Formats: sequence, structure tokens, C-alpha cells
Amino acid sequence: AAMVKETIRVYARVKPLGRRQQAGSYSVDNEEPLPSLEITVPRDLADGFINNKRESYKFKFQKIFDQEAKQDVIFDSIAKPVAECVLAGYNGTIFAYGQTGSGKTFTITGGAERYSDRGIIPRTLSYIFDQLQKDSSKVYTTHVSYLEIYNECGYDLLDPRHEASRMEDLPKVTIMEDSDQNIHLKNLSLQQATNEEEALNLLFLGDTNRMIAETPMNQASSRSHCIFTIHISSKEPGSATIRRSKLHLVDLAGSERVAKTGIGGHLLTEAKYINLSLHYLEQVIIALAEKNRSHIPYRNSMMTSVLRDSLGGNCMTTMISTLAMDKRNIDESISTCRFAQRVALIKNEAVLNEEIDPRLMIVQLKKEIQDLKDELALVTGKQRTSELSQEELLQLDELIETFLKDNDPDSSLDVGADMRKIKYCFVHLKQIINRPMTLGKKLLSQDISEEKYSNEELEKLKGLLQQRDNEISLWTNNDDCCLKKISLIYLTDILVTMLKKEKKKAQDALSQLNASSASSTVLELSPSMSLEESQSPSRCSSLKEAKDFSSSLPRLPLLSRATGGKMSLGCQEAFEVFKRDHADSITIEDNKQLLKQRFDEAKCLGEKLNEVRNKINHLKGKIIQRQIQRAALAVSNPSEELTFDPVEENLRMQIEEEKKSYKTVYSHFKGLKVEIEHLQLLMEKVKIKLQKDFEVWWSEKAKKLQ
Ligand code: ADP
Ligand code: MG
Repeated sequence: AAMVKETIRVYARVKPLGRRQQAGSYSVDNEEPLPSLEITVPRDLADGFINNKRESYKFKFQKIFDQEAKQDVIFDSIAKPVAECVLAGYNGTIFAYGQTGSGKTFTITGGAERYSDRGIIPRTLSYIFDQLQKDSSKVYTTHVSYLEIYNECGYDLLDPRHEASRMEDLPKVTIMEDSDQNIHLKNLSLQQATNEEEALNLLFLGDTNRMIAETPMNQASSRSHCIFTIHISSKEPGSATIRRSKLHLVDLAGSERVAKTGIGGHLLTEAKYINLSLHYLEQVIIALAEKNRSHIPYRNSMMTSVLRDSLGGNCMTTMISTLAMDKRNIDESISTCRFAQRVALIKNEAVLNEEIDPRLMIVQLKKEIQDLKDELALVTGKQRTSELSQEELLQLDELIETFLKDNDPDSSLDVGADMRKIKYCFVHLKQIINRPMTLGKKLLSQDISEEKYSNEELEKLKGLLQQRDNEISLWTNNDDCCLKKISLIYLTDILVTMLKKEKKKAQDALSQLNASSASSTVLELSPSMSLEESQSPSRCSSLKEAKDFSSSLPRLPLLSRATGGKMSLGCQEAFEVFKRDHADSITIEDNKQLLKQRFDEAKCLGEKLNEVRNKINHLKGKIIQRQIQRAALAVSNPSEELTFDPVEENLRMQIEEEKKSYKTVYSHFKGLKVEIEHLQLLMEKVKIKLQKDFEVWWSEKAKKLQ
């Protein structure tokens, strides 16, 4: 099998400096062939923090992405090459390593606010499904899984049956090793995703579960590892070989030392565990980097077991070191870079993951055996050089005669697997057919005349068929028809969504006017929230999955505004105040504006699509008219033959042009749809987060009051 041997690619990404942060001193040199990052530590700091007299540290990377690097660039340079390998049948892994707050989640999943902030996972999904759609030579199947590892325990983030509100409610995933020492994850669900939209919905479900499972006590986001995996299998039609590949996208736990973050007391056990798990990762990496080490301690922790193939095994692996370069974090950044230098020494050997489907193989082999048997029989017959004997020839003549005389339709002429005999029979039969007034003629005349008749008939039918074909292709050009259907569905979806939203908005405003006129804050804020609220029901009309998910998401009863009465007036008011103070209203407003703009654009495009379609139909009508006219002319003037019609040709060309523009507008339209759905998911996320934050805040307030 094909194999690619390569060291792990290691990149660095520097997070933009916060507003109140003091910049640390560093410089980036991206000169080929050895890009490097130099960090300078003031002498006093170096003495105090690192206990080392060195001032300047230089680290080599595949490439360094400085503060201003945007998500699309990160995807194109880091993730796309890995995704390409995975599409070709190799395993791939991308993991982000760095201290808490340095941008791991931002890089792997993305920011929850802007569409342009979406990270490696959604972009990779989009890229992969695009590529799969383009390749019609193979049949592809895609699944995703999402695993969170916290305190050496695995949790399935994608199980839709569970209404998780705590991490312990999620299904527990355990490791099993088979006799070939392959790792299997028991209880981790593989969810099929047939397109980008389904995959994004699964990601959304997982991220929401991840968010909900986090509490101030477990601080899961900094102490757990999350592994989003895309599983792809592909097969060429008719082939027994299946290619399977996996792409792990890993958001590791924060790499900071426990002592420095100052976590104390009973939290230490947990913190120590996280440290332990990253410590085991380091041990594995050190072992791998050493020459002639035979034992690699993969089994020490769940994470190293799961990633065993990705570290020094069958995988194309890439690491992104995320760095916060402000003064206070510079020593952690140096630790991260040191770790990265060791990782860069590890060699992986990625092999093409091909396996054979035994059932398909049997079918294929059976066919091959039959073919070979036939061929062998023919070949051995041919290889005999001697002529057929007089006696054999007479025997054959007799066989042929009985065969011809036999009226049984099941009778056959069996001369055995001898090419010479078969040939002789053919020649003999040919002679009989061509010889007039013989036995052959008498026997076969009927058949021959029938065949002649059917030949004429056949020609006629062929002509008719051609005509029908032309008509059919004229009226229902296959892909055009399909496009028409799909775009109609989308258009209706979008319009229905818009209408529902308008109606809901009006209703909300009215009901709020009636019900809660007591609280002026509610009134003031309601327009800004009503859009999000109307989102879920309307989106559900277009996304079945989303509906399933949102019903499986735990809803906080005290916040269920739909039922109104459940939340006490005080709590409700508090929520409104909290919302005003905590919600990033600028971003929400931004996104809402953007969403509206996109809807308008989609509507516009939809209208354009309709227009083009009407144009095409009009042109088709013209062609038909033209054909009828010409047919009528041909009837009244039979001497003139139907010839090439330049007018018709011109109409056809116009149709082709319109079709082209239809396809362009349509693909734009489809892109918009993906963006709109993503924006809706983002807003849903912000909303859930806000509710969750409020719940925490409220319960803390309540506790204090007690
Ligand atoms: P981590 O997952 O490593 O703990 P996060 O990804 O959560 O860190 O990042 C911490 C904060 O910094 C988040 O608010 C995130 O949006 C922001 N952030 C991180 N990297 C970037 C970046 N490259 N550009 C803009 N904001 C970023
Ligand atoms: Mg994170």
C-alpha cells in the first residue's frame, strides 16, 4: 500500500493582544526554509519566573501566524492539506495545544459570534462535502463523532437521546482493545451526516452539550480534551476495495501549570488529573522522539490511547501551538513552544487505509472464475493444431441436422468446448442459410422474412424513439428539472421562514404589550430578542434535525418565556436586566442585520432564478412553435426536406446561455443558504449561553441572599 513518511507538522498562532494587555517582546521570521519565532524575556522576569539567565529563545516552526492572521488563512494553510490527505484515504489529525485562553477553541471550532470567525471544523466540513459532491467516481459515506475526555472519562457529546444538563448525564465512553491491539471506543456514537448541513447541526449539538456540561466547578472547557472526528469511507462502484479514513480535530486541555493559575483546595485532584493527562501526552512524545525506543507508553491515559495512531503511527498529523504573547503569559508561551519543538521531531507513517469487502470479493471472484473457465476451454480448443477427422466432421453434420430439425425450442447444439468444432458449426450453418432451395431455406424462410420485417419495423421505431428523446430532452432536461425542484423548495422555505418571523414578531409585540406592560424593560428589550426567539420554530420548518436537537436540548424551566407564567416577575425582570448588561448586544445586532441582509439577498436571487426559468420556458415554447410551423410547411410542400434550422439552433444556444447563468445564480443561492443557517445556529448558541450564564448568576445571587 502507498505510504507517506513525514514528521509532524508544527505551526504557531499568536492570539491578538487584549485591550488592557501589555505586549511581550517577540519577533516573527517567516523566511523559508526555517521560519522561526524569537521571544525575548527581560532579565528580571527571566530571573524571577523561569529561573534561567537566558534572555532570548528561538523556536522553529513550519510557519508562524501572527496576531492578524484570519481564520480562512489558517484553514487554507493548515487544515486544507490534511483534509486533502483524508479524502485520499489517509488518516489525519490536527490538534491545538496551548494554555487556557490562548485560542485553541477559537482555532479549532471558531468564535461563536461572526460567520467569518468559524474555525477549522466547520470549514473542513464544508470543504470535504464540496469535494465529495464533485467526485462522482466513488460512493462516499461520512459519519461524525464528538468525544470529550474529562478526568480520564470519555463522554459522548452527540448522543441525541440524552438531555444532558450535567456532564455525568452524558453517555460514558470506554476504551476496548481487541486481540490485534486496535483501540475501539465503546459507547461513542457515530452519526451519519450526508451533507454539510447535517454535519454542522451535529457539531452544534455537541458544542451545546459541551457548554451545558460545564460548571464553575469542573471548568470543563479548560480541563477537558475534545475530539471531533470525521469518518469517511469510499468505494468505487463494482470494486470490492473500501477506503476508510478518519480526521481527528482535537481541542486539548489547557497546558498551563496548575500552581501558577492558583487553583487550590479540593479542585487540585481534578487539576492534577488534567495535568497528568497532558503529562502522559508529553511522555509519549518524548518516547517517540527518542531513537530506538521500543515501548511507547500510550496506555497510560485515555487521550494517548485514542490518539495512538495519530502520534507516531498511521496518520498525517499537524499541531497548532496557540500562544498568548502578553507579558503575563510569556513564560507559558515559552513552555508551549518547547513542547512544540519536541513534537516536531516525531515521524508518522501514514498508510492508505484500504480493505476488502469479503462479500463483494466473492461475487467478483466467482465471475472471474467463470470467465477464466470459458476462456480456458476456448484457448485449449484452439491450441490443438490437428484438423478435425473425417469421422468427427460427419458426427458434427449429423448433430447440426438433428438440431435444425428439432422443433423443441429448448433444444441446443452442444459440441463441447472445442473452438474448431464451434467454428465448423458456424460455417456449416452459414452455408445452409445462404443455399437456396435446401432444407435450410425451408426451415428458416419464415424466420428470415420475419426478421426482415422486424428490421424495417426497427428502423421506424428507432426514428420514433429519437423523436421522443428529442422532445423529452427539450422539455425535461434532467438536471435543469432537478435544479428547478430544489430551488423551489429552498425559496419556499426562505419565504415561509420570513413570513412566519414577521407574524411572530407582531404577535410577540402584541402579547408583550398586553401581558407585561407592567415591566417597561421587557418592552424596551423585546424587539432585540424576539428575532432569536422566532428563530427556533421557523428554522425547524426547514431543518428537521435542528428541530430534533432543539427539543433534546434542556430548556431551563425558569426561563421558558414562551409559557410566560412560569417565571416570576422578579426573575423575569432580572433576566432582562442581566441581558441588557451581559449580552453582547452589538454582535447580536450585527448578526441580525447580517441575517436580514442575507435573507434579502436570497430573496433577490430567488426572484432572479424564477426569471431565468421563465425565460428558458419561453425559449422552449418558441422552439416548439418553430418546429410545428416547419412540420406544417413540410406537409404542404413535401418536396422540401426538413433541413438544419439556424433559427432553432440560435434559440437552443440562448437556452444554453440562460442555463449557465441559472447555475451560477443557483450556486450563489446555495452558498447563502449555508451562511444563513450558520448565522441562525450562532444566534441560538448566544441565546443558550446567555440563559446559562443567567442561571449561574441568578443562583449565586439567590445563595448570597440566603
Ligand atoms: P482556549 O480554547 O485556548 O482556552 P479560546 O479559543 O476560548 O481559548 O480563546 C479565548 C478568547 O480569545 C475567546 O474569547 C476567543 O474568542 C478569543 N480569541 C482567541 N484567539 C483569537 C483570534 N485569533 N482572534 C480573535 N479572537 C481570539
Ligand atoms: Mg477552549
